[in-house]
Amino acid sequence: MSEARQGSGNNSPHSLVHLGQSMLATRFGEFRLHTFTTVPDGEKILALVFGGLPLAQPPLVRIHSQCLTGDAFGSLRCDCGQQLERALENIRTAGQGLLIYQMQEGRGIGLMNKLRAYELQDGGLDTVDANLRLGFRADHRTYALCASVLRYFEISRVRLLSNNPAKIQGLEAEGILVERVSLLPPPSPASDRYLRTKRERLGHLLDTPPFLRVREAAAPERPPSTLDDYR
Ligand SMILES: [Zn+2]
Repeated sequence: MSEARQGSGNNSPHSLVHLGQSMLATRFGEFRLHTFTTVPDGEKILALVFGGLPLAQPPLVRIHSQCLTGDAFGSLRCDCGQQLERALENIRTAGQGLLIYQMQEGRGIGLMNKLRAYELQDGGLDTVDANLRLGFRADHRTYALCASVLRYFEISRVRLLSNNPAKIQGLEAEGILVERVSLLPPPSPASDRYLRTKRERLGHLLDTPPFLRVREAAAPERPPSTLDDYR
């Protein structure tokens, strides 16, 4: 099966080609996995649909950027794996929805450069400064291709699971109407520094640092010992 749709990316017009679809049973439920590529540059992007088509409007949507270390290895340096799982759970709970999995590892700088940035972070830099030190911007992601995938499914309005204003603005610049649905990560002392950087330097809408939520939730007489290192 192959269909072409014209994308409307401002900087890189592309045609989106639907390559195929298959059922994917997961521990979150049974999804239909759609695969796409672009012409002429051959970018790849995936869409996981839950609850069948057509989707009720506006559907619950998550745009997830590939993070090998977080999604596959369970890394706690970031909250990607937890966000991916939480988004799939939320979509299943809603009964219908769509997760777009975009191959923009490391906020668009690629896996190997992300791992170089990790090395710099081990030396004390935060995720933003590490990217800048390597000659990259803080975030290289674009959302024109995601908007093309949404248009393929005839979606022009979304309820977007996201804390990232740049993602919302990126979709709106492509003509998609966005209502934000917050996706709060579970508390994790290991990713606190990363989340704090996301909030303070990338403008993510994380109202309360997760470590504070842990502290507030803890019984006053016996706070969790796992937080001792972070005081
Ligand atoms: Zn990650």
